[in-house]
Amino acid sequence: MLMPIGECLQTTSSRKRICAIGQRENRYVRDVNHQVTKALVERYPKGTLFVVEDLTGVRQATEKVHVKNRYVSVSWAFYQFRQFLEYKAQLYGHKVIVVSPKYTSQTCPKCGHVDKRNRNKKTHTFTCVNCSYQSNDDRIGAMNLYRKGIEYISDTVTVKV
Ligand SMILES: [Zn+2]
Repeated sequence: MLMPIGECLQTTSSRKRICAIGQRENRYVRDVNHQVTKALVERYPKGTLFVVEDLTGVRQATEKVHVKNRYVSVSWAFYQFRQFLEYKAQLYGHKVIVVSPKYTSQTCPKCGHVDKRNRNKKTHTFTCVNCSYQSNDDRIGAMNLYRKGIEYISDTVTVKV
């Protein structure tokens, strides 16, 4: 559980204990984010394009499902990841673009069919109701982000010509 700093100003001892754990986890996530983004920018050649989803809206979208803290923390941690990646990418001559997460896990990368039923969140599987293409749902998301990156590059090239 990740906690905003303001939450730790509570006075009860149990609350303080929870906050201490939360702050330790915050440091852990921060450290992991630093290590992963460092590895990414060092691993790929100069001029690499990184495509990340804009998950800042996820908090609002998921509060409705009553697992608020979990989703807020995901949003918070990923936003930090993105900030670290953007900062480091600039130092290494890479580029980061942020795209809408809309339909990335519902779109079939093979036939382009968009359907909520394509994805089964419980089993983490994706099965296209149109063409039956199957894969892991996170892999599908990554494939769709890759495509958005290719589209971005194509558009950029077209603009330059
Ligand atoms: Zn399909």
